Amino acid sequence: MSSKKILLVEDEAGLVLTLTDRLEMQGYAVESAADGAAGLEKALANSYDLIILDVMLPQMNGFEVCRKLREHGSMVPILMLTARAQLADKVHGLKTGADDYLTKPFEVMELLARLEALLRRAPQASVPEALRFGPAEVDFKRGEARVNGAPVSLSAREFQLLRYLAERRGEVVSRAELLKDVWGYTCAPLTRTVDVHITWLRQKLEEDPKHPRHILTLRGAGYKLA
Ligand code: CA
Repeated sequence: MSSKKILLVEDEAGLVLTLTDRLEMQGYAVESAADGAAGLEKALANSYDLIILDVMLPQMNGFEVCRKLREHGSMVPILMLTARAQLADKVHGLKTGADDYLTKPFEVMELLARLEALLRRAPQASVPEALRFGPAEVDFKRGEARVNGAPVSLSAREFQLLRYLAERRGEVVSRAELLKDVWGYTCAPLTRTVDVHITWLRQKLEEDPKHPRHILTLRGAGYKLA
């Protein structure tokens, strides 16, 4: 079994050392970032099984990092570390898309237990790294797409949209869900954004974009990757 990869975003050097040590002893592979901006950059550039995210960070606080990650379509489990046992912090953290939180100071055993629970809950198998349908092959890790073997360029948003549909392949996904989870809109404005991006994906990846066989529209319900 390959070890689970954890990103630790924390600015207290002592805590980073201690936690890295303990997590590695438990068999986790650990990378760290010492401020919010560096953490966000790492989290977007690599794939991690889980992120431990401190709230009080230089450059960009943990709430902001979390919100931006979710806006980029990242589904990685996030455990937030809050300095104060304040309900407002907890609520705010969960609202920005964190999965769980832990109040400092905490026992390492407690942290490990939370991590295990989050990793168990994470839908590992359903997050595809690559996707094939019809003539299209998409490698999400490398950010590459091919149709009948020829490279096609997709925008970051198109990759995110496709990955989201791929994670829920076979299910109907509503326009509102896509706006919220892929674009980060909290209310669904009257927008053709989703439809336009779906059309672009079809033009790039479907054999006959006018009669799509894979990226389907279900009238009044949403979209589905068949
Ligand atoms: Ca801190």
